[in-house]
Amino acid sequence: MSVAVHSAVLVGIESRPVTIMAESNLGPGGLKITGLSDVATREARVRVKSALAQCDIEAGNVDVIVTPEVTGNPSGLDLAIALAITALRHKAGEEFWQQRRDAIIVGELAFDGRVHPVRGTVAHARAAGKGATGRGQIVVPKANHTDASMTEAEVFSCDTLDQAINGPLWKTLAKPGKYGDPVNAPDALDLADIASPSVRRALEIAAAGQHPLLLVGPPGSGKTQAARRLAGILPRMTDAEDLDVLTIHDAAGLRGGNAYKPPSMQRPFRAPHHTVSEIGLLGGGDNPRPGEVTLAHHGVLFLDEVHEFRKSVLESLGRVLSEGKVTLRRTATMPAAPLLVGSTNPCECGLGPDRGCTCTPERLKSYRDRAVAYESLFAMRVEVPYVPVGGVAWSPDPEAYSSSKVRARVEAARAIIARSPGAPFVLGRSIPTITPEAQRLLDTKALPFPMIRDVNLVARTVAALDDKDRITEVHMAEALSFRVRP
Ligand SMILES: [Zn+2]
Repeated sequence: MSVAVHSAVLVGIESRPVTIMAESNLGPGGLKITGLSDVATREARVRVKSALAQCDIEAGNVDVIVTPEVTGNPSGLDLAIALAITALRHKAGEEFWQQRRDAIIVGELAFDGRVHPVRGTVAHARAAGKGATGRGQIVVPKANHTDASMTEAEVFSCDTLDQAINGPLWKTLAKPGKYGDPVNAPDALDLADIASPSVRRALEIAAAGQHPLLLVGPPGSGKTQAARRLAGILPRMTDAEDLDVLTIHDAAGLRGGNAYKPPSMQRPFRAPHHTVSEIGLLGGGDNPRPGEVTLAHHGVLFLDEVHEFRKSVLESLGRVLSEGKVTLRRTATMPAAPLLVGSTNPCECGLGPDRGCTCTPERLKSYRDRAVAYESLFAMRVEVPYVPVGGVAWSPDPEAYSSSKVRARVEAARAIIARSPGAPFVLGRSIPTITPEAQRLLDTKALPFPMIRDVNLVARTVAALDDKDRITEVHMAEALSFRVRP
């Protein structure tokens, strides 16, 4: 006789269904598992037998077959394996199986029978919620319950294997609420704190048009402070975007410590160090995980000291950003469409021409040459001036420059761009309508083609912020003032 239950494994951020079949075996083999790697089999056997023993259940001679075969080391199959054996041994009631038969079951077992949280429960719950296994139900570890409940699935959870077998399981009674408005949260960073009008303006245009922005300024000028305020002026996240971000961060294992807290619903801000590996930035590996570019999806990816990043990593990043996704081995993909922001010094000594640069002409030229590696990633550039302590009296005017005001303008501009003739709002596509004067101004600059496209798109955003869907000479002049190269 045999029993089959449903489980799932994570590939990148995608849930892949797995069937766990337990069959009585007359031989003396004890618990045998096929369909997992040798290491995964050894580890799962020890955990499952030990946890079952805590419930006074002897695994006995049983074959467990995992289909399709699973690579890597997915500890999240433990609970399903243990429950399949339990059912085979008639240690669980008929009513229990009527409730669980079609559910996806995920959870890692500890030796003492506790059920540990796993990565990827949100992805699995989304798959269950789409009815992939019949009745849209999922059984997860208690610590993953809140996050799984943000999906359409009917969620049950347990703390121990004993609870999974004998119940009662916890069940979601009401969907967890979200945090309030992230822009008006007490700890939110406000755009009004940024003294430079041109930097505030560049951030607003970049947010409205999703234009990658390069901040250039000496150390201490506040480039990081500027970049950090960008996530707060992007449009409020939609429910679908919320769920995408939660799915990604849960798959990366970043939700573990906050498992009982509702998700924050803030746009992500990720700032990987320049020593980051290609896998760290773009994702991948044997048990493929999201990289920083995917963790920043729907939010901001900040490359501080972008000139220090390896050329090969920047090239790969450019490819990923142009496709908006990372493709893993086989067919799995991970979304990767953050708003990119970079920072760099004006020159090698960092002082820049205004503050007594000490670079030799040769060093200035080599610094310029290296800039080619990253400049093509950006559509806009703005200089962040150095402000000596106490040097400029800036009184923030929350009425004009607060993040919530700017975000409202950004949302209005995006609505105009979305209905502008030509195309939906897609970065890098569709050249907008333009007045002859604006076109002449652009032509006088004799820019290379990729820059013409970027300047046109930035100009369209400037026009939209001005409540227009046609680019005039004034809009074009401002767009040109933010172009990446002179
Ligand atoms: Zn210098």
